[in-house]
Amino acid sequence: MADLAPYAVSDTNSRGRKITEAAPNARSEFQRDRDRIIHSGAFRRLEYKTQVFVNHEGDLFRTRLTHSIEVAQIARSIARHLRLNEDLAEAISLAHDLGHTPFGHAGQDALNTCMKAYGGFEHNLQSLRVVDVLEERYAAFDGLNLCFETREGILKHCSAENAAKLGDVGERFLQHRRPSLEAQITNLADEIAYNNHDVDDGLRSGLITLEELATVPLVAKHLQQVKQAHPELPERRVIHETVRRMINTLVTDLIQQSERNLTAQKLTSIEDVRTAPAMIAFSPEMNEQQRELKTFLRTQLYRHYKVMRMSTKAQRIISDLFGVFMADYRLLPEQFQVQDEAVRSRAIADYIAGMTDRYAIREHRRIFAVEEVPI
Ligand code: MG
Repeated sequence: MADLAPYAVSDTNSRGRKITEAAPNARSEFQRDRDRIIHSGAFRRLEYKTQVFVNHEGDLFRTRLTHSIEVAQIARSIARHLRLNEDLAEAISLAHDLGHTPFGHAGQDALNTCMKAYGGFEHNLQSLRVVDVLEERYAAFDGLNLCFETREGILKHCSAENAAKLGDVGERFLQHRRPSLEAQITNLADEIAYNNHDVDDGLRSGLITLEELATVPLVAKHLQQVKQAHPELPERRVIHETVRRMINTLVTDLIQQSERNLTAQKLTSIEDVRTAPAMIAFSPEMNEQQRELKTFLRTQLYRHYKVMRMSTKAQRIISDLFGVFMADYRLLPEQFQVQDEAVRSRAIADYIAGMTDRYAIREHRRIFAVEEVPI
């Protein structure tokens, strides 16, 4: 990490860990954070959690695990180019979805509705809770005892009410300050990753077609380039060539606009980053093109009736499980059995949020199926 920009996060300017530990050997503090995340149980469960398509719908669709790896790849490339802390960008990327429920956004919305009377449920906050509290692996502390900047980067959004309860990582939401540039990169790398892989997965599923996608300017431009250069190319390769060009265009635009912003603002320290406007950004034109793509995906893919049917099942599974566990705590596995209602609601939310898609389906069957199933 010899050549970091003066406004990059580094081991030297980091606010450190809650519980002080000896400096690591042969790796940086943020490499250690990344390693702890990869070795966590929550990280392995991402393999069986939905991004858009439920895990059993096909082996080639993205899962939260492959999504997180794609985010890390994009974030690292951008961070390296801007001389920012690549290890931190990678750590935040790999951890950013650890708190996601099974069944993607449908699952999160359902659990949030169930938790309305008990403080709600929000996946960013849950990701932080996983790394701060829920992972029980180390002798000296609960959670992973990650560096402040990794934790801060995981908490992308937060209400003022929740921020006030969170201490150090909540402060910036109350003071309207920015997170590190590495965290800003990860947020936008997340967008680049999901917009593009949802195009790819949407086409693979057959729920959207290339002809429909060609109405979106960002796709049309790259699709034409591919077809002109390779008129005989089979469709699967056309799709990949188009998507890889779109990712490249978005990453390049983001780097160039962010460089312009950084030069204009003349930042010299991490403190400057926190008080300046957001530095990591797309150009206004690219923002507009991304917005058009998002609108297309929302109306044509996320609201496709086949996706909606699965979302409805997901909501049902989650609200049934929550309801039955709230009504009788004795149905919960022993480590989650709590009598106090408010404490129990959070324990149930932790239990449900930690489930993979297939575990949630099986748990629902174990409790509700009337035919013979093993308990
Ligand atoms: Mg994500």
